[in-house]
Amino acid sequence: MITVYNTLTKRKEEFKPLVPMNVKMYMCGPTVYDYFHIGNGRSFVVSDIIRRYFEYKGFNVKFVMNLTDVDDKIIKKANEEKVETNKITQKYIDAFFEDIAKLKVKKADIYPKATEHIDEIIMMIKTLEEKGLAYNVNGNVFYNVKLFNGYGKLSGKNTEDLESGARIEINEAKKSPLDFALWKKAKEGEPYWESPWGNGRPGWHIECSAMSCKHLGETFDIHAGGNDLIFPHHENEIAQSEGANGKPFVNYWLHFGFLNINDEKMSKSLGNFFTARDILKVYSAEAIRLLFAQTHYGGPLNFSESLLQAAQKGLEKLENLRLKIVGELKEEDTNKEVTFDFDKFYNAFESAMDDDFNSPQAVAVVFDFIREANKAITENEKPGHKFYNGVKEFLTRTAEGVLGIINFSAIEETGASLENELIELLINLRTEAKLNKNYTMADKIRNELTNLGVALQDSKDKTTYKKIALT
Ligand code: AMP
Ligand code: ZN
Repeated sequence: MITVYNTLTKRKEEFKPLVPMNVKMYMCGPTVYDYFHIGNGRSFVVSDIIRRYFEYKGFNVKFVMNLTDVDDKIIKKANEEKVETNKITQKYIDAFFEDIAKLKVKKADIYPKATEHIDEIIMMIKTLEEKGLAYNVNGNVFYNVKLFNGYGKLSGKNTEDLESGARIEINEAKKSPLDFALWKKAKEGEPYWESPWGNGRPGWHIECSAMSCKHLGETFDIHAGGNDLIFPHHENEIAQSEGANGKPFVNYWLHFGFLNINDEKMSKSLGNFFTARDILKVYSAEAIRLLFAQTHYGGPLNFSESLLQAAQKGLEKLENLRLKIVGELKEEDTNKEVTFDFDKFYNAFESAMDDDFNSPQAVAVVFDFIREANKAITENEKPGHKFYNGVKEFLTRTAEGVLGIINFSAIEETGASLENELIELLINLRTEAKLNKNYTMADKIRNELTNLGVALQDSKDKTTYKKIALT
């Protein structure tokens, strides 16, 4: 049984999907006007760990993450750089995909873009208008918050307090300062679409209501995002979706703690950020993911480089065991039987993750496992392949498959391709030596490579190589 902390009910609950063994999950994705920072990266990685754990448990997960590609910040940047907005969004969408791939975040099933869902957005606003929940003031359409029963149920805020606390806004068109824009009238120099209310563009909140409904249905299982989105973004999404569809919107709301710097939220506007791509130049995805997994997704994480260095160091134990496994499995099987309680570790890993995705506990289980596996290796001298395959399978399913803190397949591939690249490099140096009539050097390279088991074959215009068995 998986339990999750539901922001809506403010307690841990048993997770019961709408359709058995299926999870429909929506996560608020990036606004694509810049490279994402490592704080955003934390939200992407923890949602990835949650998604991977459902898959580990055999659930069929449909994971949708939106891309906000029309927004004030995008328009501002396009104006500054004197280019069309889609130049900006395409650049940063490409960068987003590159960076999440480097962070080993599994791709979502769908990345809907706001600009490709304008029809759905307009339909939903029309429904809200028909139901009397939205009003049009001169081409700007607003949601009438006070008419939605239950506004504030996610964030725990109530409309009276919000209204008395609200600043008197410049926007006198709204009936109440709580009301928010569903459709914004086009301004000079901004991208716009035609609509029943005139030319304009959608507000931010309606995008997520319309796109989640299109791709996951009127009611779905999980909606996730950073804590900063609880109010007003997610509160407004509930008002829009439930107001329009007359059905519960989402059963479980999951929110991720901030990644902070000196106890302050990392954000573009504060300027206290590191981009994920810069961090990835120095630290491996595995180290970054280990650091994130060591804190519960719901709590804050005070980021510092020394924590990343510690995580990188912590990975050495895992890496040493991986190298040992890969090496031993290449050698002949000793057929030695070793008794080792794998089930104990699978059970411990699962009970940690079943408990509201307690990844810090799950990481502790992986490290206990490493310690005991190393002990078994020392005590049994040369355990057989059955043992090593069992160790490999455990780490592949948990540390690699769920947490993404080790990489069995890719590292071996990288090793092989690096080797090939080095051979090519030596061949090129030899060709250069021959061109310079330095035949002593050319022969030396050929002979040394032969000694290492790499035979060169010269043809008219190129040199190829073959790996040969060494006697
Ligand atoms: P944005 O591009 O700012 O809309 O954010 C994309 C995702 O990152 C959203 O789910 C945000 O809630 C999340 N996010 C933004 N800043 C942080 C932070 N400092 N720590 C963790 N998550 C964040
Ligand atoms: Zn959203």
